[in-house]
Amino acid sequence: MSRPAFHPAPSPPTPPSPLAASFPGAVFVAVALLAGVPSPASAQAPGFDAAAEVRALMEHPSVQAAFRHIEENDPWTIATLRELTQIPAPPFMEEVRGQRFLELLQESGVDSVWADAEGNVIGLRRGNGTGTMIFSGHLDTVFPEGTDVTIRENGDTLFAPGIADDTRGLVAVLAVLRAMNAADIQTEQDIWFVGTVGEEGTGDLRGVKHLFREGSPDFSAFISIDGLGHSGVTNAGLGSHRYRVAFKGPGGHSWGAFGLGNPIHALGRAVAAFDAEAKRYTDNAAQRTSYNVGTVGGGTSVNSIPFEAWMEIDMRSESPEALLEIDAVFQAAMRRGLEEANAVRARGEELTLEITMIGNRPSGEIPEDHPFIQRALAATELMGGITSLRRSSTDSNTPISLGIPSVTIGGGGAGGNSHSLAEFFMNHNGPVGIQRALLILVSQAGMVPVM
Ligand SMILES: [Zn+2]
Repeated sequence: MSRPAFHPAPSPPTPPSPLAASFPGAVFVAVALLAGVPSPASAQAPGFDAAAEVRALMEHPSVQAAFRHIEENDPWTIATLRELTQIPAPPFMEEVRGQRFLELLQESGVDSVWADAEGNVIGLRRGNGTGTMIFSGHLDTVFPEGTDVTIRENGDTLFAPGIADDTRGLVAVLAVLRAMNAADIQTEQDIWFVGTVGEEGTGDLRGVKHLFREGSPDFSAFISIDGLGHSGVTNAGLGSHRYRVAFKGPGGHSWGAFGLGNPIHALGRAVAAFDAEAKRYTDNAAQRTSYNVGTVGGGTSVNSIPFEAWMEIDMRSESPEALLEIDAVFQAAMRRGLEEANAVRARGEELTLEITMIGNRPSGEIPEDHPFIQRALAATELMGGITSLRRSSTDSNTPISLGIPSVTIGGGGAGGNSHSLAEFFMNHNGPVGIQRALLILVSQAGMVPVM
């Protein structure tokens, strides 16, 4: 699928020809030829105008052909949404859906396709080799094994767990790939079309962490399709630390063994200490930071001193530094609860404390004036969406924390109740969301103009 290298059109008039201004690759080639120095892909070139660049790209006949294909292909898109939704993909059990996604990548047309060691499914579409970027949705859903994922219909509404989050994203990835192939769009950069594993909950971003592990290819940019609609651009990751905490002791009879260290009492002291100190911290934090004890358990009966008490805790912050600081507050409070409970016991072994990290999502932000964010916002505006910037917890957290330009965007359509059994999807303006995703992808990957 490779084409001869692009040659600039003969002597561009002043102001620069729309073609030269339209495509990052073309600009790059022209600048390199004129000045003899390459400009780094991430630097904002003087005179960079994302709105003009993306508009010219959108008006290009090849992109218009891709847009038409997205509309004409919509029955396939919806049929594939129905099919993939009804292949269960519980956390850590994405293989069956992943295998079907792999076949669909193959059928849609990629240069090669594979599943990596973590279970991510990857289709490579070659560009002209100037870099590699990732365009992805996530394979997993939050729903446990055995959840009924049969689609129910009511008018134009499709109900099924996972249909929006993130089966729609996976299908949008495929629809963009098919449209690029149908319109024969050639890009500067190689593109990995990916279905990631482990985005949700205890998956803890294991798929995307594997993609960006040490020694992985040097990815230039990352797009995650997660959510619906064609408004908003997520350019910031909300980081979180999650822990399971267990206090343990010998346990015994509430009357006969009275005086033994009590793990539930220790837990109560620890929560009280944490709540007091963490509230003082968050009230004064420069960036928004939160904390929550979400679950507690333990104990045997009302007349037994428990041998164990446990809880799960979630802390989040916009700032990586603040996340570490509230984490330190948490660790100190747990130790204080333990020490106090041990100090007041009358007899028996000391209580012990176990702290296990069960979630670690990095935070960070790609600045609004970064060319990639500017292109994503310009494409959103051109497609009639609302150009708000957002912060959330998605696959983009990981590359954002590494400083790699990344966005999470919706996959078109409308719906709601995600993460619940009543999740639903409506194909309202569905193709527009897919067109926006294509425009953002191609504007960043750089289109090689047809001569
Ligand atoms: Zn999701």
